[in-house]
Amino acid sequence: MISQNALVLFSGGQDSTICLAWALARYNRVTTIGFDYRQRHSVELECRQNVLNALRASDCVDTSELGEDTLLDLGILGQISETSLTRNAEIEISDSGLPTTFVPGRNLIFLTLASAVGWRQSADVLVGGMCETDYSGYPDCRRATLDAQEQALALGLDREMVIETPLMHKSKADTFAMAQSLGGQELVDIVVEHTHTCYLGDRSTRHDWGYGCGTCPACKLRATGWADWQKAGCPDEPTGLA
Ligand code: ZN
Repeated sequence: MISQNALVLFSGGQDSTICLAWALARYNRVTTIGFDYRQRHSVELECRQNVLNALRASDCVDTSELGEDTLLDLGILGQISETSLTRNAEIEISDSGLPTTFVPGRNLIFLTLASAVGWRQSADVLVGGMCETDYSGYPDCRRATLDAQEQALALGLDREMVIETPLMHKSKADTFAMAQSLGGQELVDIVVEHTHTCYLGDRSTRHDWGYGCGTCPACKLRATGWADWQKAGCPDEPTGLA
């Protein structure tokens, strides 16, 4: 246990849920922050609450030091972006290799706002699920970008604000293994049942890897990760809290 306070960027998705479990095993006190950018589907926001409730009700991870949850209204992102997450456009992969859901620099905005909230909460660390492995097309998910932002935040806040990204070099299969290691099958079950990944907000079709349309890029990643993890012979025994 590290005697630091962490603020976790928590969307209710698979990655940020596993980041939250990672932080709970590691830090003295943990709070969460989410952003309502008027998603086409309020599914994500519902899932956030369902995941938090499920974690608190379970003893697969220690939630005794899980503090307040903050939800910021970022409707302004809908005004400044052309993203299909906030419009009814079809999800596609553009010529640049980025999904049309791409909001330029979105993580920079999220982390800057989180740092302000974290500062007020006496947090020393921001934890995010950014990952170079799955989303190499997102320049603001690269560690080099985050290193630069960490430096800018330390200067602008006049105190250290570390940005931890425990999933940076992990595949989706690795993150399922990480859930198993942090909270055993019970945490894997919470991830599968309550977290949301699908770009189309589909909560009606249940696969063995969770809910989703099964065909959007996010569903495909999750399904492939699950299959790879199953193939690797997911260990039954938790390997302890890393
Ligand atoms: Zn989908």
